[in-house]
Amino acid sequence: MDYFGNHIGKLIEELSKLPGIGSKTAQRLAFHIVNGSEQSAENLAKSIVYAKRHIKFCSKCYTITDDELCPICSSVKRDEHTVMVVEESRDMAAYEKTRQFKGIYHVLHGAISPLLNVGPNDIRIKELLTRIGNEEIREIILATNSTVEGEATAVYISKLVKPLGVKVTRIANGVPVGGDLEYVDEITLSRALEGRIEI
Ligand code: ZN
Repeated sequence: MDYFGNHIGKLIEELSKLPGIGSKTAQRLAFHIVNGSEQSAENLAKSIVYAKRHIKFCSKCYTITDDELCPICSSVKRDEHTVMVVEESRDMAAYEKTRQFKGIYHVLHGAISPLLNVGPNDIRIKELLTRIGNEEIREIILATNSTVEGEATAVYISKLVKPLGVKVTRIANGVPVGGDLEYVDEITLSRALEGRIEI
């Protein structure tokens, strides 16, 4: 990085920390930014800081939102007795696109991963148990990813939730093993939801 100088080197370094951005892409983005207008660079920087400062988590389902409650949790049309547990807000967005699911969500913000040092207390499992205590939840649909971490998280949660007398289901295997929910098409997601089985 040294031959570009420290200023752009730092920019490349920061960009390459983003998921899915390798060092070549980071370089391309950095040069695109510095070759553009000062105004565009400022807009980009400002929108990053603004989003970070003003982002909120829904006080009920913990998805990323602008208000105290997200539009789904504040809607009267949703079935509050059925809660789908997903890893990330973007998974919730993927299920919303199918228009099949009429319940509400719980966003864990991650999955249990001993390799990455993510334990049950690092994701929002406690908050899910609190919700089960406070709300009239009849079914928990575990829609974590079909990865090792997603499966382990689903098993962990089902062991905690079943003794509480709540029906626990897992989405069907329509979602490819190792698949990230975000990239699965809407028909596959709808089928996975329809074919969910009680565990
Ligand atoms: Zn919400």
